[in-house]
Amino acid sequence: MISKQAITAYCKEKGIPSFRAKQILHAFYKEGRRNFTEISVLPRDLQKSFGGVFPIFSFEVAREVVSQTGDTIKTLFKLHDGKLIEGVLMRFRDNRNSVCVSSQVGCGLKCAFCATGTMGFIRNLTAEEIADQVLYFDHWLKKNEKNKLRDRVNHVIFMGMGEPFLNYEEVMKSVKILNDPDLLGIAARHITVSTSGVIPGIEKLAQEKTQINLAISIHAPNQTLREKFMPIAKAYKLDALIKAIKAYIQKTHRRVSYEYVMLKNINDSENLARELAKLIKGQQCHVNLIPYNETYLGFSNAGKSRIDGFREILESFDIPVTVRVSLGQDISAACGQLAINPKP
Ligand code: SAH
Ligand code: SF4
Repeated sequence: MISKQAITAYCKEKGIPSFRAKQILHAFYKEGRRNFTEISVLPRDLQKSFGGVFPIFSFEVAREVVSQTGDTIKTLFKLHDGKLIEGVLMRFRDNRNSVCVSSQVGCGLKCAFCATGTMGFIRNLTAEEIADQVLYFDHWLKKNEKNKLRDRVNHVIFMGMGEPFLNYEEVMKSVKILNDPDLLGIAARHITVSTSGVIPGIEKLAQEKTQINLAISIHAPNQTLREKFMPIAKAYKLDALIKAIKAYIQKTHRRVSYEYVMLKNINDSENLARELAKLIKGQQCHVNLIPYNETYLGFSNAGKSRIDGFREILESFDIPVTVRVSLGQDISAACGQLAINPKP
């Protein structure tokens, strides 16, 4: 990723007029150019000298798979130190192009149903490595999508590998890059950070002047069940978590979303739906029920009728519910299936 500061400073130092920096940023972030030699307004000698100093991306593409329907693209990125992460582009029919980014290599929180958790924590990503995943898919769309209404990334979700709030600073820096109107220009209200319930992160986010959305992976309405498959629940107890979320809503006046992955015979009963409704009723929130993407971890998807039943109970308590459309299952691109088995 070419940083605004770096390119501007370089031009100043070399006595290159500052409009060149603007042309370059425009070419990479707005026009989908993928190389300095593709920037025809730039004289040859400048193309060469910039090209020698500024790599376009902080990673290489190791593998890429496109789902049968062409609506999901999963890319395995190889970082400079050889570590692998994955990003996923989801192209919805309503012109939404959403990129699911990784924020860490692996994840140390080891939720029992999540494939990423089996890797353990390897390292944090830098802001640049996070934003590069989005820029990569923005270029991908420019190259592969003819329809101009559909050739930009316009939504970003932090739901790939890793726990974003255990890499708070770099995640927030990457949000600034994604937001910058001179760069990708993605509206903050189209960016969602998902946490498994790291309370200090929720408290910090409440203090930020930003419009990004907060999603909380709740997955169970009581402490006993939650800590059975989410070890993080032992460190950040459910009652303290709910308190932090209420404080967040009060401070920001923003609606939060609760994610609830529907695990067959584990958390999908009608009683648990009622318990969840009582726990969050009255909050400015909505619930996103996630059909479980089966992995080798021994959990099963609750199935349509159980999910519908769960939804109806929540709705009877006036809680808005959506059921996630799961794309890309044929290429193991759905959340929680990333990077473990690079050969789908
Ligand atoms: N670590 C953060 C963000 C990444 S996980 C978090 O846990 O919120 C993004 C979402 O995918 C979480 O809600 C997570 O519980 C869910 N998830 C993990 N494995 C999944 C799977 N196999 N199928 C469906 N959702 C899964
Ligand atoms: Fe980590 Fe989120 Fe997976 Fe849990 S669900 S192991 S927090 S990535």
